Amino acid sequence: MRRPLVVGNWKMNGRLGEAEELARAITSAEIDWDRVGVGVCPPFPLIERVAGAVSGSPVAWGGQNLHAEDSGAFTGEVHGPLLRDLGCTYVIVGHSERRGYFAETNEDVAAKFEAAHRNDLVPILCVGETEEERDAGRAEPVVRAQMEAVLDLAEDPFAGAVVAYEPVWAIGTGRTATPEQAQEMHALIRSLVGDRQPQTAQTLPLLYGGSVKSANAAELMPQADVDGALVGGACLKADEFQAILKAAAQAGAGA
Ligand code: PEP
Repeated sequence: MRRPLVVGNWKMNGRLGEAEELARAITSAEIDWDRVGVGVCPPFPLIERVAGAVSGSPVAWGGQNLHAEDSGAFTGEVHGPLLRDLGCTYVIVGHSERRGYFAETNEDVAAKFEAAHRNDLVPILCVGETEEERDAGRAEPVVRAQMEAVLDLAEDPFAGAVVAYEPVWAIGTGRTATPEQAQEMHALIRSLVGDRQPQTAQTLPLLYGGSVKSANAAELMPQADVDGALVGGACLKADEFQAILKAAAQAGAGA
């Protein structure tokens, strides 16, 4: 039995004046909190404020990225030990915007994934193909390679981790994978982990990400291998995010 998890990726949004209000609004969602885990990942300078606003509630918080090293001369970067000091539960690694705009390779992402575990943070590994790759029939090998870079790190790297399948063509575009497309890729991801660690595969939370909103969450969440969502744009609107939490909680209740 996997409890649904919904994580909001604020990306490079939010100002000092509004972060607490948004974070508090999330905690006031009228949902069965036992049926869904909730996390928010604001920009680094907002983490402490958001943590203050949600602490004492079931909402956890995290970072959107971290450096692979635990300290050093890496100007502008943020290290895992600091995220841990800030009480983060989660850290997103390998988001397609990091892979695309900051040229992070599968190996870079794997090193960050390892750094997250080393610092007792739950890595949320993002994988997913571009539109070009899907059109060329290469969605599976691309996601397989992204997963294998992490699978090759250790005997059981996905124990205590989360994976988010985020087709790049669906991120911030308003286009969403169909429930069938999402399920197909999630089943692939679970089987890749299952080939090496069947037990871990059964408990591994697999989130879908890519233009999730209240209008499509209720269709996506009940898919057998969809265990929640990583939400970008829609997590900046409290009512939208609350509706997604509700859909996930209901899917959890029906599981
Ligand atoms: C994301 O940033 O992880 C994401 C899925 O964005 P959006 O929901 O805006 O597509």
